[in-house]
Amino acid sequence: MRTIVIGAGIGGLAAALTLRRSGLDVQVFEQATELREVGAGIQLSPNASRILNRLGLEEPMRRMGVRPHSAVVRRWDDGRELTRQPLADACERNFGAPYYNFHRADLLDLLSAAVPKGMLHLDHRCVGLTQHRDRVEVQFHNGATADADVVIGADGIHSTVRKSIMGPESPRFSGHVAYRGLVPADRIAHLGMELAVAAWWGPGHHFVHYYVGAGARYHNWVAVTPGEWRVESWTARGEVADALKEFEGWHPRVREIIGAVETTNRWALYDRDPLPRWTVGRVTLMGDAAHPMLPYMAQGAVQSIEDAAVLAKCLERADAHDVDAALSRYEQTRKPRASRCQEGSRRNGIMNHLADGEEQRKRDAHLASSTTAPLPQNAWLYGHDVEAEFEQK
Ligand SMILES: Cc1cc2nc3c(=O)[nH]c(=O)nc-3n(C[C@H](O)[C@H](O)[C@H](O)COP(=O)(O)OP(=O)(O)OC[C@H]3O[C@@H](n4cnc5c(N)ncnc54)[C@H](O)[C@@H]3O)c2cc1C
Repeated sequence: MRTIVIGAGIGGLAAALTLRRSGLDVQVFEQATELREVGAGIQLSPNASRILNRLGLEEPMRRMGVRPHSAVVRRWDDGRELTRQPLADACERNFGAPYYNFHRADLLDLLSAAVPKGMLHLDHRCVGLTQHRDRVEVQFHNGATADADVVIGADGIHSTVRKSIMGPESPRFSGHVAYRGLVPADRIAHLGMELAVAAWWGPGHHFVHYYVGAGARYHNWVAVTPGEWRVESWTARGEVADALKEFEGWHPRVREIIGAVETTNRWALYDRDPLPRWTVGRVTLMGDAAHPMLPYMAQGAVQSIEDAAVLAKCLERADAHDVDAALSRYEQTRKPRASRCQEGSRRNGIMNHLADGEEQRKRDAHLASSTTAPLPQNAWLYGHDVEAEFEQK
């Protein structure tokens, strides 16, 4: 079975590793001339870290990742704690794998270091696909072509692969903009912040921050605000003063963390409705190409890693001449769960941003009640082992 993965983001690289482990021939084509990630953080819950552990990445993940001991939600103005979820030890105990915070570049580096050199082709932008009865031909911007039995579009929210099999369609702008910053941890050491993922919820806005980088060297923050600015680019600069203005009246700690950076990036937030299907013929989609979601469950990259695990399990048993059953099994296994995350992330975008008032008080009371202890509530997500589930069927 020959497979081609288009896109070497977190999802595409994870797929390269799982497909290779399943004994398939894999080639990955990436448009960029070098692999780069934005200077920002990413959270990886146990449903993804257990998959990467099994790929032999346990040691570099432990070295490069930060294990937050809890996730805390606070009120925007007085900092009152609304709920606290134990993470590090509780995740390992309950779900058998760690919860990590990474610097994105570290995560991309440790994935790409595990991909054999000849497998990754940089500077290859996919511009089109032609499906034949027994193979798919991929065309690149530089005139090169490549053939495979199966092509996997891991080329992100603006996927060319998706467009070529489903037709053009624009993602939905959420009306939210994310400012992002990375602060050397020693610069704000005087705040005495615990090793936790902290989220502050307030009217129309929320703010998330946590440590990243080996040895918790940096503090990463994301500030989500309403806005009409629609550019998605890792390199688009935002003004720190604009971010601070959005958080006027918020708790001094929030403002101090924002103000501790010299520069900030700004990122317009888009998603899509769940697609009716992910596969046409010998071509399928994964990651943001298949199910782009708002970042409010921290599951976009995590779900792409789950896709990679299931796709490899489906294809390792398939016959290269008849991939329909394998790809349809992949889609049937993955789509309900990824769609649930797309929809849940949208819902969180409303819940996290409630204006002070009756609904907000109900939400806070619900959060505080013992019956909604957050870790058991997340068991469907963090405790789910997609590979084990697949083996049992
Ligand atoms: C503010 C913010 C915070 C987030 N936080 C989290 C979090 O904490 N946890 C989490 O799990 N997720 C998080 N996410 C979501 C996560 O970043 C994405 O879901 C994830 O990166 C998607 O990975 P991917 O590999 O599918 O796509 P991408 O990362 O978009 O990678 C696509 C790759 O394909 C390449 N490419 C594109 N077009 C072509 C082409 N035509 N030919 C060849 N190559 C091509 C691109 O250059 C890129 O390398 C967050 C997102 C945002 C915006």
